[in-house]
Amino acid sequence: MNIYIKNNQQHIELPEGASAKDLAEKLNLRGPHESLAVEIGGIPKDLISPLQDGDQVFFLHFDDPKGKEVFWHTSAHVLAQAILRLWPNAKPTIGPAIEGGLYYDFANLTISEDDFERIEKEVLKVVEENHHPKRYEFASREEALDAFAHNPYKQELIRGFPEGTFSAYRQGEFFDLCRGPHLPNLGKIKAFKVLKTSGAYWKGDSTKEMLTRIYAISFPDRKQLKEYLFILEEAKKRDHKILGPRLGLFSLEEQAPGMPFIHPKGMIIWNKLIEFWRELHTEAGYIEIKTPQLMSQQLWETSGHWEHYRENMYAFGIEERQFAIKPMNCPGCMLYYKTQNHSYRELPLRVAELGHVHRHEASGALSGLFRVRSFHQDDAHLFMKPSEIKLEILQVLSLVEKTYSTFGLPYRLELSTKPDKSIGTEEDWDIATKGLQGALDEWGQPYRINEGDGAFYGPKIDIHIKDALGRSWQCGTIQLDMALPEKFALEYMDSDGLTKRPVMIHRALFGSVERFFGILIEHFVGKFPLWLSPVQVRILTVADRHNEYAQEVCREIKKAGLLCEVDHTSESVNKKIRTAQLDQVNYMITVGDKEIENKTIALRTRDNMLHGEMILSKFIESLLKEKNDRSLESYFSKGVKDE
Ligand SMILES: [Zn+2]
Ligand SMILES: [Zn+2]
Repeated sequence: MNIYIKNNQQHIELPEGASAKDLAEKLNLRGPHESLAVEIGGIPKDLISPLQDGDQVFFLHFDDPKGKEVFWHTSAHVLAQAILRLWPNAKPTIGPAIEGGLYYDFANLTISEDDFERIEKEVLKVVEENHHPKRYEFASREEALDAFAHNPYKQELIRGFPEGTFSAYRQGEFFDLCRGPHLPNLGKIKAFKVLKTSGAYWKGDSTKEMLTRIYAISFPDRKQLKEYLFILEEAKKRDHKILGPRLGLFSLEEQAPGMPFIHPKGMIIWNKLIEFWRELHTEAGYIEIKTPQLMSQQLWETSGHWEHYRENMYAFGIEERQFAIKPMNCPGCMLYYKTQNHSYRELPLRVAELGHVHRHEASGALSGLFRVRSFHQDDAHLFMKPSEIKLEILQVLSLVEKTYSTFGLPYRLELSTKPDKSIGTEEDWDIATKGLQGALDEWGQPYRINEGDGAFYGPKIDIHIKDALGRSWQCGTIQLDMALPEKFALEYMDSDGLTKRPVMIHRALFGSVERFFGILIEHFVGKFPLWLSPVQVRILTVADRHNEYAQEVCREIKKAGLLCEVDHTSESVNKKIRTAQLDQVNYMITVGDKEIENKTIALRTRDNMLHGEMILSKFIESLLKEKNDRSLESYFSKGVKDE
């Protein structure tokens, strides 16, 4: 029989009766790409599942989010098995994989942090037994209910399931209700860590019984657990929700959930980001517009948002007309396009808008600057002829490179292609996808293809950045749209005198400026490079008699266009240094009798390096260069460490 492997886009001949496991063994994928489970025709299944002629298979491995889900989900069963060995009267309820691990909820169980180690040991014992989970399908709901007669929670779940297959898995003495799929053998779990425990209501309903939830995570390799725990610790130190308010950058207020207040120091960084953004876009031939916050329901009906995005929009009536606050900038830009007639000579037309948008997010989902209800998108809409797609994408990719490299953020690109449900003709999709893919090939960086993951209205390229901790964030996106130009009947006059429809691309580089700001706070741990920093220089006086000279120096530095302030509190110099370091001030200048006499300054950086006495003009000259270069490193690299 002939099987198509989606992972490497390869056809393979197999004998009748072969399973996905046989195929996986034949492919001999190892390490992070070792197969954990399989999707056959898009449906996740156990690796031992038999194959049939013409099947399209996709192997799930730990490097893939769906593979992680299988791994963590199986680990949740192991956790339950271990808990029952230690606390035989506990009643397992549900145990899903989540983003970043798994949890399992138990009734009739009380544990504390002191039990974590014991649980981990028991889990590893179960793992060492290396059971091969076996799937069992019940003939009827009644049979399933009988099998779980000892557990009223599982019975409640079974009663609530729609008609269909009821299945369970057995591993050793442990038998659990489950849809699957599972790991082929538990020995693949090489590391397991209990993270925390909390209360959780049965079915998330506060009128119901309180259960004990245990959060945990597992890995196919002990080294990965070590890395994970290190990143967890580091991430705590970098948390922008704590660092941001402490450094006076932003705050969140109970009266405006999910709508950040940007403070003066935060505004300095914000404005620098925007200045940089504007500079890049002007250079790249963009024009900029600003469209209203509030537009009529009719507009949102035309764009399709009213039908498909209504529950995320804030809408209300004004003088008997319905209006909504914009959740996206696109429809406003479409109206702008239509204010004039366009000729092929103007194309590609690049229209940027730093639009303020609002989207409703459930209060429980809000998180610092990462998940908000009010944010700014560095949007742009590019209008072009189909033949111009490739060159335009290449130009956007070069903007992506200029943007992220300035912050020292490496990135990777992913192309998502035509999904099962889509609009537009085969030919449109072909031109669009070839345009994007052609540009990516020419760009030359390796990229990943997510087959069938595009939007229904067009293919897209997503840009994932990697921060200093190695965490991945999706920020930018380049999205081809075949729907909106149609819905708004956009046109241009071509060289042959005919009226035609332009191709449109939405693109954003930062994505949400608020979220990007949050990522930068964590990426730099508040130690912003000079060009972004809200306090570039602070002058520390030794005694009151130095104040006048300190003011004079400060004036000179400010005159040069740098941000400077004087700390003339009566604290000791050592205390002033510590405060300046905590405030992440890039450069500290101390002035005392000697400096006044020699008309010099004494320089220190926030990483406690001493650079000794120097002439003010030399210092300013170097700082201006560092700032204008948008350097990520201090130009005062050599110095003496002050222990
Ligand atoms: Zn399961
Ligand atoms: Zn758009």
